[in-house]
Amino acid sequence: MEPTDLSKSVTFHTRARKPRVAPLDDPNVQFLLKGGTIDQQFEVYAVRYATREARRGDHFHGGDSGYDPHNAPMPMDYFVWAAISPEHTVIVDAGFTAEVAARRGRDHLRCPTEGLRELGIDCTRVPCVILTHLHYDHVGNLEKFPAATFVLQDEEMAFWTGRYASREHFRNTVEMEDVVGLVRKNFEGRLRFVDGSEEILPGIEVHKAGGHAAGLQVVRVKTARGNVVLASDATHFYANIEQDRPFSIVADLARMYGAFDLVRSLADSPAHIIPGHDPLVMQRFPPAKKGLEGVAARIA
Ligand SMILES: [Zn+2]
Repeated sequence: MEPTDLSKSVTFHTRARKPRVAPLDDPNVQFLLKGGTIDQQFEVYAVRYATREARRGDHFHGGDSGYDPHNAPMPMDYFVWAAISPEHTVIVDAGFTAEVAARRGRDHLRCPTEGLRELGIDCTRVPCVILTHLHYDHVGNLEKFPAATFVLQDEEMAFWTGRYASREHFRNTVEMEDVVGLVRKNFEGRLRFVDGSEEILPGIEVHKAGGHAAGLQVVRVKTARGNVVLASDATHFYANIEQDRPFSIVADLARMYGAFDLVRSLADSPAHIIPGHDPLVMQRFPPAKKGLEGVAARIA
């Protein structure tokens, strides 16, 4: 069966935007002045919705004692992402709820949908949400996207409805009700399955990486500064991919290394790779707008 073309099957809502005059130093204007034509380019934002204290040894397969015997603090942030063009708004992942945060001892800063609202996004109208994988910190607020089709890999859904989902190492990384909710959405026709790599919209591609979760996918977004890869948990921190050291939670270690290779090959440079949980993202990129320091960063 041919994959569904989402752009034909779903009405995409254009985000209400005030017309603006682009300054001459705007890369799009520069591009046009050089005789180019603009096709789909997206702005990309990271929204930070939760955090937790942690130690270096928590974040590397096999621990970190060979690198840092003091096991220094290394906090972890939690994000969702938005890719916005004049025509399309695509959300990547949906975060967890305050209730799950309390149960799991995470510091919930805001509902991810509230952070997205600060960017002018009405989540009740968003038509497309890409789910990188089904771990609890990525799929906990799907009911807050009632107009959305959810994009996920065949292998990820198969894994969490298959023979190993109940084994301790795996079952603790998902909320059972999130998985059951996705089974219901499948019967409602609200899931778009991908097997491998696919263009979701012009300028937005997903690629199966695996490793940390069986069907983990990463998202490549075309932006004015080149191809950005929202790596999600293919690399939790910059340190994982930069030092070629997989994260501690592993479904398939060999594929985790392969995911590093894939992410590097998809991004225009190492600076175009956005890790899934690194507090440095909020330092390396400017706030989306004044007042959103620590809440939302503009990546491209
Ligand atoms: Zn995660």
